[in-house]
Amino acid sequence: MIYERMKKKRWNDFVKAKAKTFCSVALSQGIAVWLAVAVLVSMGLQAEEELGNPRSSYGLGSAGYLKGDNLLYSLFVDTPESSWTKEEKEKALTELLLATDYIEEQASAYHCETRLICDWEENADLCSDAVVDFAINDEEDFTDRLDEEIARWVEEKVDFEGLKESYRAKGIALLVFVNNPGTSYAIVFDGTDNPKESLILFGQEPPSVFAHEILHLFGAHDLYRDAEYTQEVTAYVGAAYPLEIMYTVADENGVLRKGKIVNLVSPITAYHLGWIDYTEEIDLFPQLKREQK
Ligand SMILES: [Zn+2]
Repeated sequence: MIYERMKKKRWNDFVKAKAKTFCSVALSQGIAVWLAVAVLVSMGLQAEEELGNPRSSYGLGSAGYLKGDNLLYSLFVDTPESSWTKEEKEKALTELLLATDYIEEQASAYHCETRLICDWEENADLCSDAVVDFAINDEEDFTDRLDEEIARWVEEKVDFEGLKESYRAKGIALLVFVNNPGTSYAIVFDGTDNPKESLILFGQEPPSVFAHEILHLFGAHDLYRDAEYTQEVTAYVGAAYPLEIMYTVADENGVLRKGKIVNLVSPITAYHLGWIDYTEEIDLFPQLKREQK
């Protein structure tokens, strides 16, 4: 059933169209080539083209609120053009832990306690491997096939409910790691599809991209230009919070840092994540209000 639901053409067209736009915007601004896409089937392709569409499922989906304990399950995927060595996996874990430590610290600054449990060197049941017989990169039309694989993995390979129970975790998401360059993105619940939420993360991405994408799973929205909000909002964010992590994943010089995240979680994203229940920006820009579908 899920296979059918996920195998929709819009996903392909949408990602391809959007990937091009976002990448060129990102490149022209000298920042990273990255992209977060939420699949919003019920609203249709037409609506997806408009600004203001949430690319997150605040409080819904398998990764609900970013509070308490949440699990991130790592799946290392080999493709015909890339595979993972033990050392490379460990490096990806180091980057991931940098990102999750960062998120926990940011939450703590808002007096909100959260723990992202993902260290598979400590918890071996939070990691496994998979193989696909097609390439996964920005040049390939892989999304339909990857959608199908993910649908199968979350049904047969990763026991979302069992893991949640055994860790007494509030939420869980799947991280699909691919060891070649590409544009990472989030697949979040849209009210119909993808209740089991996931991320596609490409090797060589800096930890700020990991953090940005993980935050999408838990309600954060893109705050950069031409993504989800009007230019009025994105210009405001750029001026008020130039290093906001949903606005940029680069540092103040436009550099993608390895080994450190220098970006910030502004009150706007803190509000979208449920760490605070109010920020004055929602009065200034009502489009920023959280929406629970
Ligand atoms: Zn994003």
